[in-house]
Amino acid sequence: MSKVANIQADVEQLGRQIFDLADKASNSRSLFGKKDLYSRLMEWSMQDPLFKTQMFRFVDVLPNLRSADEVVSHLSEYLNDTKTPVSTFLQGALRIGSFIPPVSAAIIRKNIVAMANIFITGADNKSALRNLRKISKEGARFTIDILGEAVVGEREADDYARRYRSLLDFLAEHTQSWQASTPIPANEPPLVNISIKISALCARIHSSDPETNIAAILSRLKPIALRAKELGAFINLDMESYGLKELTLELFKRLAEEPQLSDYPHLGFVIQAYLRDSYRDTEKMLKWAQQRNRQFTIRLVKGAYWDFEKVFAAQRTWEVPVYTSKIETDANYERITRLILENRKYVYPAFASHNVRTISCAAAYARTLGLEPGDYEFQMLYGMATAIRRALLSLGYRVREYCPIGELVPGMAYLVRRLLENTSNEGFLRARFGANTSITELLRDPASQLTAKGGPLIPPADNAATTKSVHPRPTPSDSVASFTNEPPADFTSSSVRKKMVLALQSIRSKFGRSYPCMIAGRPRISRDLLRSQNPARPEEIVGLISTAAPGDVVDAVAAAKRSFANWSKTVAEGRCHLIERLAAKLRQNRFDLAAWEVFEAGKNWSEADADVCEAIDFCVFYAHEMRRLSKGRLTQETAGEVSIESYLPRGVGAIIAPWNFPLAILCGMTVAALVTGNTVIIKPAEQSSVIAAQFMNLMQESGLPDGVANLLFGNGETVGSLLVVHPDIDFVAFTGSRQVGTEIWQMAGVTHPNQRNLKKVVCEMGGKNAMIIDTDADLDEAVLGIIQSAFGYQGQKCSALSRLITIGEIHEELVPRLTEAAAALNIGLPEHPSTDIGPVIDQAAFRKIQSYIENGKREHTLSYQGHIPSELRGFFVPPTIFTDVDPASRLAQEEIFGPVLSVHRAEDLDKALKIANDSPFALTGGLYSRSPRNIARVRSEFLVGNLYINRPITGAIVGRHPFGGFKMSGSGTKAGGHDYLLHFTFPRVVTENTLRRGFAPEIQRQSSADRG
Ligand SMILES: Cc1cc2nc3c(=O)[nH]c(=O)nc-3n(C[C@H](O)[C@H](O)[C@H](O)COP(=O)(O)OP(=O)(O)OC[C@H]3O[C@@H](n4cnc5c(N)ncnc54)[C@H](O)[C@@H]3O)c2cc1C
Repeated sequence: MSKVANIQADVEQLGRQIFDLADKASNSRSLFGKKDLYSRLMEWSMQDPLFKTQMFRFVDVLPNLRSADEVVSHLSEYLNDTKTPVSTFLQGALRIGSFIPPVSAAIIRKNIVAMANIFITGADNKSALRNLRKISKEGARFTIDILGEAVVGEREADDYARRYRSLLDFLAEHTQSWQASTPIPANEPPLVNISIKISALCARIHSSDPETNIAAILSRLKPIALRAKELGAFINLDMESYGLKELTLELFKRLAEEPQLSDYPHLGFVIQAYLRDSYRDTEKMLKWAQQRNRQFTIRLVKGAYWDFEKVFAAQRTWEVPVYTSKIETDANYERITRLILENRKYVYPAFASHNVRTISCAAAYARTLGLEPGDYEFQMLYGMATAIRRALLSLGYRVREYCPIGELVPGMAYLVRRLLENTSNEGFLRARFGANTSITELLRDPASQLTAKGGPLIPPADNAATTKSVHPRPTPSDSVASFTNEPPADFTSSSVRKKMVLALQSIRSKFGRSYPCMIAGRPRISRDLLRSQNPARPEEIVGLISTAAPGDVVDAVAAAKRSFANWSKTVAEGRCHLIERLAAKLRQNRFDLAAWEVFEAGKNWSEADADVCEAIDFCVFYAHEMRRLSKGRLTQETAGEVSIESYLPRGVGAIIAPWNFPLAILCGMTVAALVTGNTVIIKPAEQSSVIAAQFMNLMQESGLPDGVANLLFGNGETVGSLLVVHPDIDFVAFTGSRQVGTEIWQMAGVTHPNQRNLKKVVCEMGGKNAMIIDTDADLDEAVLGIIQSAFGYQGQKCSALSRLITIGEIHEELVPRLTEAAAALNIGLPEHPSTDIGPVIDQAAFRKIQSYIENGKREHTLSYQGHIPSELRGFFVPPTIFTDVDPASRLAQEEIFGPVLSVHRAEDLDKALKIANDSPFALTGGLYSRSPRNIARVRSEFLVGNLYINRPITGAIVGRHPFGGFKMSGSGTKAGGHDYLLHFTFPRVVTENTLRRGFAPEIQRQSSADRG
């Protein structure tokens, strides 16, 4: 029998011993079974998942509530959403207490603070010291984690670095006497031990540019590590979300390879066993250690972000990086346990778990290898499993507590994580102390359970309850459900980054080529050439474009009209198939296309990639939709008559596309028209003509018959207008500015004598989008959401945020953090992987935005303006923030289409909504709030086409967020939604009388069915 199989008996014996000792520790503070607020909350939350969601949301918002009224009203709003006996009881109590809100609020606050204090060692270094001393006196050790708000700016990152350094000094000074009284054994890590989150040391992490991140983080981390070495202290790098994993491991290696630290063994990192690639990562790190004969600590954990990883990956249609069954995680943890114990020569193992099976397994396996308890250690979270900690100490094992220090506001996220962990259906602590699962069951070997069940397991049925939404969701329509979005590129992967770098190199070598118009499948070259430039380096000509003459417009419309006869009769399935082939071509060329966007449209890597993905999505989604539409629809069940509604193509369309989503919008409008059986003439924006040429080329390669799609380059006033007024144009699909959109609307309204159809205009225009920040907003999230919405792609999205409305006192807290976050944005060439802000599209846009800024400086308070590095020579406009802006001013009313944000103050939600709705546009809008009542009000009263709550307002995803606005934002069409294709069709109903001389086939069928 193998060592592994052999140890089950030892595991059980040790496990029972630990349970015995833990049960006997009568004075230990059990998390379960007591009657304080915390224990009751745990109990109720486990009984009722909806109550749990609402209660934890309340706990999360509490520290941000300023007045007693706010505390009482928030709690009652949260409880209102759950109609359970518990919440009814609590509401009753609250109603009685609400006569004197200060008293109720003080009691609520006191209880939640007491709850937080179970898990947080102290508000600051000094106040934590007493608890640390207690831990030491018990014979345990500690590692300190500094709790804090999310870092959004350089100053905040510097501040963290300073706090870590002073924490080291503080601990070294104040623990001197403890070390003197109880010396640390030689084989034990130093007493002064801190845990660092790398995200706290970097203002902005760019997944596409690890080298820049590493340089930025190392500049702060290295001085901390050197100070630790001077003091003989230990530094651990905590592991956060999966997106930071590669970066953290690489950073650890770089730190450990620093000449001054290459022989310093007191550095460590974390392996998360819930990650599918964690075993392989451990092997790689061990290999690295062997090559350098390097020693370090590995803290082995299961992982704290399981829900987040699942949601994050699902939203991006990425493979989920975590195991999805708990026993897989447990079994993997034990595999890695064996691996690191077997490599004890390089690794000092720290097993971080509260699970007695997990702990016993590590100890039992270590024993089979002849290791002593001091050759490794166990780690636990402060406040989580005191009884188990004491049991282990009494058995002679080394135990370290993970002790967070910090204020209540940043501490809440940590507290909520602990509450979730303790009430998780699959958590060990709940199973043992909440659900009284038997010891035999708790000590079972996860690996043998996995083998017995034959592979990955399905989570328990009641798991679904915990993920139930608070707001009932309508189920997606069938076609939407079967559609899957194109996964965005994961630039954390080096192989993906390499593809982008190669694509950029290859596309740059193709600069300066000529691109003809395309009519009936034939190139049409003209002498009138348009130079498409790189807005980041205007001297670089991306391509030379043949512009269309009036005769070309006539020929292109004629070609499209000729092709209509066949194309409109092609079976829908054939058209869908072709559009899906186009999707495949786009997919094959995705990095090249993204590279063209980087150079021609000035998009950074992730914006360019997102645009290509959206184009692919449009193809796949509209093909799905067409299949649904093409089936026709029986309008009503009526005996003796059959009425079928079906859809005919409209005819020949002009597709007039913008430059800001140079592929996605162009492709979306085009394929919607084509898949429904129309033929088109595409007129792309001058500024993004080369990208349109690439698209045309791929359509031809996909096998689109000649003449079905034709491409004309040129400017809007001439080529665009000629198309719109042409009598054989049956519809226009336009996305662009309000001015051009309304002109097209007007021109298309004129009916020519020989025109066969009334022209339909599918029109999407701009926005002057607002976001409201409520008094209780989560600023960590809001600041990042504002930055992304206002400055993503330099604010050149019709969905971009341009009016920020703050309610009450939140303004003072928000604006400094916002300006810091804006200052952390990297302005540079879009081809560089860490660029956040590139150029605006051209000189005209540059001048227009600058004039708004100059005007704004005269009329409003300039709160922040970024700095353009002197070496940049393109059309760069710095991110600019104005405060004290009059809502009626030009800055607040006119569409600027650049990185300019105006901030308005409102006393309350009424005023905020008034400002938000006071706009000629109605495209996107947003709200950050944690008040259920205010969220409900904004849902119904903020009138925009796309409203986003507690998230950025840009980045609509096909199928998930059908996109488009009303008022002067457009005709209410929803691109990427299942009504969209209807705009490109004429609905038609054919009714047939099926009654012949009193004989109705339906009745006959029905009666034979009844008889049979
Ligand atoms: C000292 C210490 C430091 C830590 N540091 C970090 C850190 O830096 N980074 C980090 O991410 N975590 C860290 N953790 C881990 C984390 O915070 C949890 O405490 C830990 O995962 C709980 O594991 P357990 O063995 O105590 O409990 P158990 O109840 O046995 O395991 C719970 C864990 O199983 C996993 N799990 C739950 N459901 C499923 C499922 N359906 N499928 C697959 N897996 C599932 C999750 O990881 C969950 O946390 C640390 C923990 C400790 C004790």
